[in-house]
Amino acid sequence: MHLLICCVLLVALTCGDAAMLSRSDWGARAPNPGVASMRSTPRNVIIHHSATRGCTDKSSCSALVRSFQRYHMDNNGWSDIGYNFVVGEDGNIYEGRGWGKVGAHARGHNSNSIGICVIGNFEHRTPNGAALSAAQSVINTGVRLGKISPSYRLRGHRDVGSTTCPGRRLYASIRRWSHYRA
Ligand SMILES: [Zn+2]
Repeated sequence: MHLLICCVLLVALTCGDAAMLSRSDWGARAPNPGVASMRSTPRNVIIHHSATRGCTDKSSCSALVRSFQRYHMDNNGWSDIGYNFVVGEDGNIYEGRGWGKVGAHARGHNSNSIGICVIGNFEHRTPNGAALSAAQSVINTGVRLGKISPSYRLRGHRDVGSTTCPGRRLYASIRRWSHYRA
């Protein structure tokens, strides 16, 4: 058993994949009816920030993800947390709606994109390396699993909507990633 755990850790480190925490890991509520399935492989990845405080450990990041879900469901009346995935500066990936589900994060673009939110406000500071790696890991995993088109287009929320999201500094970062196209 111990050997197995070591091997799993070794593989995870070798692949450079951040940990993916399931909905039950962060204490998600069950979604309400109405979350649609994707009809085709999404061709876009849209990056957001939460415009909240940041977090650097699993417990505080989980609490923030629960608060996003609560706000999206109770205030906005959505069926579930809007994002497909959320990443924190703890380096973890938090499963939101997940793969193959239409999110509620970028009006007019949800059915053809995966929405990834980085926890924090990145108008005046850049996310740490752990959060940026986790976001890239979500994308790489999606391409590998066939859940994101290999020729996907990376964009910031402000590229497709009237918003400052994902913040000036995070936006500057993602514009340097290879799949970014304005
Ligand atoms: Zn956004």
